[in-house]
Amino acid sequence: MEHAELELGEHPHKTQLLSAELSRARVIPLYKKNPPFSHKKLGFRFKSLPEKLYFTSGMTDNEASAMEVERCQWNGGGEREVAVEEEEDPFLQFIEYAKSLLSPDSDGNGDDSKGPSWRWIVSRILRTCIAYSSGVTSAILLSDLFQAWNELNKSGAPKKQSECILQLKKKHKRAKLPNTVTIDSIYEKKFLSLNSVIEAVIIDTYILPGTNIYMLHLGDFWSSNTIDLYLHRRFYSLADPKNGILKKGREVFLTGCRLRIATGGSDHARLLPTEYLVILLDEDQNDDAMLLLAQFCEDNFSAISLSDVNRGVSYSLRGGIKSITSLEVQGKYGSLQRKQIDLVDDEGVSSKFLLWGEQVLLANLFSVGSTLALDRPFISSSTDSAVETSQECYLEYGTATQLYLVPFVQNEEQVSLALTQNHNKGPKLSRALDPSQGFVVSQVFLPCDSQGSIDFSNYPFRSFVVDLREKMTGISLYGIVSDITSTQESVLSVKIQDVTGAIWARLHFAQSWSLGRLGLGHTIYISGLTCSVGTGKSLALRWVENDAGASFINISCLPALLNSSCLHKLSCLSDLSAEPTGTLVCRVWLDQIEHCHVTARLSHTSCGYFLDDGSGEDLKCNFCQRKCNAELARNFHLKITIADESGKLFAWCTGQTAVELLQITPDEFCELPEEEQIMYPSSLEHETFKVALVNCRKKVKGLLDQDHDIIAWEITRAMKCE
Ligand SMILES: [Zn+2]
Repeated sequence: MEHAELELGEHPHKTQLLSAELSRARVIPLYKKNPPFSHKKLGFRFKSLPEKLYFTSGMTDNEASAMEVERCQWNGGGEREVAVEEEEDPFLQFIEYAKSLLSPDSDGNGDDSKGPSWRWIVSRILRTCIAYSSGVTSAILLSDLFQAWNELNKSGAPKKQSECILQLKKKHKRAKLPNTVTIDSIYEKKFLSLNSVIEAVIIDTYILPGTNIYMLHLGDFWSSNTIDLYLHRRFYSLADPKNGILKKGREVFLTGCRLRIATGGSDHARLLPTEYLVILLDEDQNDDAMLLLAQFCEDNFSAISLSDVNRGVSYSLRGGIKSITSLEVQGKYGSLQRKQIDLVDDEGVSSKFLLWGEQVLLANLFSVGSTLALDRPFISSSTDSAVETSQECYLEYGTATQLYLVPFVQNEEQVSLALTQNHNKGPKLSRALDPSQGFVVSQVFLPCDSQGSIDFSNYPFRSFVVDLREKMTGISLYGIVSDITSTQESVLSVKIQDVTGAIWARLHFAQSWSLGRLGLGHTIYISGLTCSVGTGKSLALRWVENDAGASFINISCLPALLNSSCLHKLSCLSDLSAEPTGTLVCRVWLDQIEHCHVTARLSHTSCGYFLDDGSGEDLKCNFCQRKCNAELARNFHLKITIADESGKLFAWCTGQTAVELLQITPDEFCELPEEEQIMYPSSLEHETFKVALVNCRKKVKGLLDQDHDIIAWEITRAMKCE
């Protein structure tokens, strides 16, 4: 992929970064670079060129002289100016402020792991902003953050948990399985999907009085509630009150559970019998280690003999889970779901464990790296089935099979940080730091999976482009869109730029375009990115819309932005810089109305981009590459001068923003007689608005909005001031 390079440009400290990296093997160095020029405002250097960025030297129009802001060329040579004045970004400042309040114990020594992660705070704040589109206050945001953070921590310390759970919890290190739900949430939602997993601890095993029905009384690490399960008969032999393995203090994973909601009386909700239960073994416990040795080490995969199997011999086998793959098999009676779990035993011999139909639920309980012990697996000969395998036989979950699991305990990778990363010390200190002092390393422990990928979703700090390395997952970035290309229907490539550099990210969409309007210069927050080495050994970012933790928020177009004074500060038009600097909010009036330019053209409703006029049968949107015959609407393309006491600016806008400025819809406008259309804007002269502005100078390749690229500024949101 040609555009997947990590652009560090001519970074003044690049060599230093690399040498620091080499000196620390096995540890991923992360640096926050503060380019020396990022903290100072870029002054304007005026030149008399006919660029449409006007500044008045005084207060009157007559004195206005056309001046152009000299563009800083990013030509790779000489000083590269990155004009992102991030320390003055009120949004980032608010995040840091909230973070410092939620991590009061943090003394700046890098022990930020107790506080919320940067991603958690940003995602939570943006979620609140989206919920309150009419605007938020810092009080709303902070109280929501406090409440959510307390609830998150409370779930770690429920009021009344059984002693056996509290004991186990001390050594609990595994990561939750992807489908795990808590018992508390089952009660809360009064619903349990078949696909959900319960990671339970047995608090008690008992026989329902007056019956021979075995019940398990279950709790979990995260819940104060408990729930009873009707044990499936296939496990009865393991539930013997005297010497059964299903006794108090045993951990089990269950899935495929159905909930029986209590119907009046004092009866509680209960779980109906499920066949999909695995028993957890702990190799550090003598009894469990003995069981593994005595029962599961005698046989191995190479010892399986089909003729013995036919004589009724059964096996107890164990192997490490190497991979779990889903397959759909087309059979006589339609398609059948199948999961294949590849196991490798201690001698390196591999075998397949296959699950069919509803049994595939069991795979929810497995994770790569765990050890699976199978007592009396059903052994199938591969010659009499449709399974293509080089082996003679494979294993199945038969009616007599019992499964035991030694779960994979997630390793933690030590990630070192540059001292400059310690943002809670405040911008003043990090500004004062001299990179030549070297990196004072503090540490953060992050989960690392069996493939060596490190999960950054709980990384305490903000990640920057320069920090990105191979095998990082759960990355979030905050920056501006510096380029966009789209070649396929479901994939859009976006170049994300922050103070440290720029990188292309490939965004994969599930169905239709869901991001609304997205343009150059827009400030975005994206989470759930995965970084890997693409072709050409350059770093590539990948984002999949439906992945857990994936989000993409266009902050420049966020409805709550202009109404939330805690998230922006008012700038003057003369503060605007010639380079993309993120989103600025100004209070302006409409000016020089006689020069304003209003057109209403057809655009694609979901992405807001205008359509090519040369329409064929099937209209395809040039931006999101989707067929859009059914999703067309008239949309304004407005070019207008805005002004404040400090200057004037020619800018363009579209969509709802243009409607807000013009105070008329495109359809209403088009119904006006031509004469009135011409006269209409003059009624708006000197109306005042709060506007969000972005610099969008660079042209989007292949798009037909050619006229946009001669105007450097887009108004992404507007709000009328009364
Ligand atoms: Zn489109």
